[in-house]
Amino acid sequence: MLADKILEMLKDEITSIEYQRYIKDLKFDEKSSKSNYIVFLAKNPLIANWVKTKYSKKIAKLYELKTGIKPEVEMRVKNATKTSKPKIEKGIKKPKSSTKLNPSYTFENFVVGSSNQFAYTASLSVAEKPGKLYNPLFIYGGVGLGKTHLLQAIGNYNLQREKSVIYITIEQFMNDFTYHLRNQTMDRFREKYRKCDLLLIDDVQFLSRKEQTQEEFFHTFNELHNNSKQIVLTSDKHPKKIAGLEERLKSRFEWGLIADIQPPELETKIAIIKKKCELDGIYLDNETINYLATNLDDNIREIEGIIIKLNAYASLMNQKITLEFAKSVLKEQKKEQEKNITIDDIIKVVSNELNIKPSEIKSRSRSRKIVNARRIVIYLARNLTPNSMPSLAQYFGMKDHTSVSHAMKRINEILQKDENFKVQIEEFINKIKHSM
Ligand code: ADP
Ligand code: MG
Repeated sequence: MLADKILEMLKDEITSIEYQRYIKDLKFDEKSSKSNYIVFLAKNPLIANWVKTKYSKKIAKLYELKTGIKPEVEMRVKNATKTSKPKIEKGIKKPKSSTKLNPSYTFENFVVGSSNQFAYTASLSVAEKPGKLYNPLFIYGGVGLGKTHLLQAIGNYNLQREKSVIYITIEQFMNDFTYHLRNQTMDRFREKYRKCDLLLIDDVQFLSRKEQTQEEFFHTFNELHNNSKQIVLTSDKHPKKIAGLEERLKSRFEWGLIADIQPPELETKIAIIKKKCELDGIYLDNETINYLATNLDDNIREIEGIIIKLNAYASLMNQKITLEFAKSVLKEQKKEQEKNITIDDIIKVVSNELNIKPSEIKSRSRSRKIVNARRIVIYLARNLTPNSMPSLAQYFGMKDHTSVSHAMKRINEILQKDENFKVQIEEFINKIKHSM
């Protein structure tokens, strides 16, 4: 069957995980298709919607390649029962608002443990009763701990109930704002963002120091809030700690409920690894799972990454994933990461965490705060990059390597006696590795 062949061809253009998750189970709907109109059936509306936005162009292109005909590609839901609304049976209607939600980010696919229980429960309650319980809901926590997943789960949940959902990162919001401002179409911008049922905004920490966007966002927020429309925000920090954020926004972010996500405990990590394997049809024995859970950092994106990598390597080399194999892949990966860290990566993380400008760290400023930040960067650069002391001295415009050696000594002294400082340094290292 031609249509099936096309899906086979698509396999070479996307990752095997994408294929497994979204494409493998599509069925060609022969009855509804014509030569220039091909219809596929998906398991549920989320997958149908996702495949339509992400892969239909590729599918159309492959079809054209094979037949010379440029088709329209349509996704419908398999076995849409009589009870479901006719709109769904007719295919996926265009969402009312711009939505790019990953259909895998659902509440069912989220593993709950004590580290994320609170954020999970808050998100689920808000998804069930948008605009009624906590408005806004503000979720914060470290990199790769599931903030975007929960945010989109709220979106997916409500998309299924045909609510109009906007999911957007604050950076996209900012770009959209600038675009409409330039084109003098701000009325369209406002119409779009003030008419949705749920506004889900990811990574609001990047609002920092963007005064004009903050001003606009403030009015969007008020308008939605006044009309009991749900707002959900995520950030890597508590609103109070977002530097360069207007007080009136900070206070509004605290109006509703603030939920944090902590790094997962071992048990949760194990459960997450098992869940990911189950979703992607990967088999790992318990020993390997335990090894991964204990040896990988807390960033779940990274944990997912390594599982995918293991699976890919194993199938490439026609080998089973054993503990030994997992160990060697992990070791390679660590080496790889460390090789690639640069002083600039370190400066970026440290300056962001300490709320100073990267240029200040590289400057000659003698202010205490900056001297301290510079020492931390030097210490980390010595440990995480191949730079020698003289090359670091040169980078920072220091007289010679004795200044670098002095900075190292000073940090080592503090590390010896200050437990909090030690934790902070470890956190920096984590963030630097994950910022890559
Ligand atoms: P963040 O936005 O906090 O940086 P993400 O939401 O992007 O993190 O999560 C990173 C990856 O880890 C995603 O693929 C997500 O599905 C997965 N993940 C995070 N937490 C969980 C969890 N509790 N259960 C299942 N998957 C999770
Ligand atoms: Mg995120």
